[in-house]
Amino acid sequence: MTKISIHNQLQLRDLLQEHKIPAFRYGQIENAIYKNFITDFDEIQTIPKDLRNLLKENCFYQSLTVDHEATSSNGQTTKFLFKTTDDLLIEAVLMRHLTGRNTLCISCQAGCPMACSFCATGKLWLQKNLQLHEIIEQVMYAAKLLDSEGSKLRNIVFMGMGEPMLNYEPMKEAISMFCAQKKFDLANRRVTVSTCGIVPGINKFADDFPQTGLAISLHAPNDEIRKSIMPVDHTYNLDTLMTSLDRYTQKTNKRIFYEYIMINGVNDHLKLADELGKLLQWRLAHVNFIPYNPGEGTGGTYAATPRFIIERFQKILEKYGVVSTIRATMGDDINAACGQLARKKKEEEKKQEA
Ligand code: SF4
Repeated sequence: MTKISIHNQLQLRDLLQEHKIPAFRYGQIENAIYKNFITDFDEIQTIPKDLRNLLKENCFYQSLTVDHEATSSNGQTTKFLFKTTDDLLIEAVLMRHLTGRNTLCISCQAGCPMACSFCATGKLWLQKNLQLHEIIEQVMYAAKLLDSEGSKLRNIVFMGMGEPMLNYEPMKEAISMFCAQKKFDLANRRVTVSTCGIVPGINKFADDFPQTGLAISLHAPNDEIRKSIMPVDHTYNLDTLMTSLDRYTQKTNKRIFYEYIMINGVNDHLKLADELGKLLQWRLAHVNFIPYNPGEGTGGTYAATPRFIIERFQKILEKYGVVSTIRATMGDDINAACGQLARKKKEEEKKQEA
């Protein structure tokens, strides 16, 4: 008999109903799992022994195993490399900001089919869409770790491995669990979904999640450069993307975050700052400049833009009234950029096989 995940609330409720267990017992299980971080069903003392046995026989708490866990030298960033039951590697990164704003970056796919040229995950291609419980387990693991440090998870971002709009239904259900008071209890605006620009997904997202944050991996202000580094632009070019984003803004009145990874000599020419300014000046936008992280796993093709150029880029954007932030680099010493650790591990395995 296949066991069900304790995080699959529909199946769990069905199981309880099938065994004529009163509905309030679900609330007690929920409280034990998500509020008291109990991982062993035997330790849920608020429910009767028969029910604990039923859970043991029919449910599992965690399918992912921790293959590797590393914390940066300053203690702020922890990277988790999880292994799925089908032996695939996925990553999550916990960032402990000094303000106490703990943010977890999670994966929604193992690998990614979008093949952005600067991204280690894109080099792995798509291995599989994660199931709901595999998404939730990443969060549970980090939330439990923070709890042991006397701290709490404040933000969740879908910016790890994979394109969330291509695994829409599990992502949708996961967000509703993140924001459920009796589960992770995060405000909607504390969850952000990042997409490389899958237009049908963005349109759906605007309808389903008007309060949830949206980030766009933009990385270039024109189609010529964007196409050269992001194959998605061949399917949804900038015009199509911006039309969809304008619809999103009209519907939600929310500011969109534009991610712009600064790659030396590729997308950091100062004239592009003017193009970016013109593209965003009348839009509700916030640009995040991300210094390229040249860690292992990206093939050594690219280098990071020097900091002073990023600052000049930012100054030019200011002329257009576009607000921007230069992201702090966190966890360079532990390959914290998306997909780097999984790709590195895969390369090591290949070398051993050769
Ligand atoms: S940047 Fe995002 S969409 Fe592009 S390949 Fe990497 S994970 Fe996929």
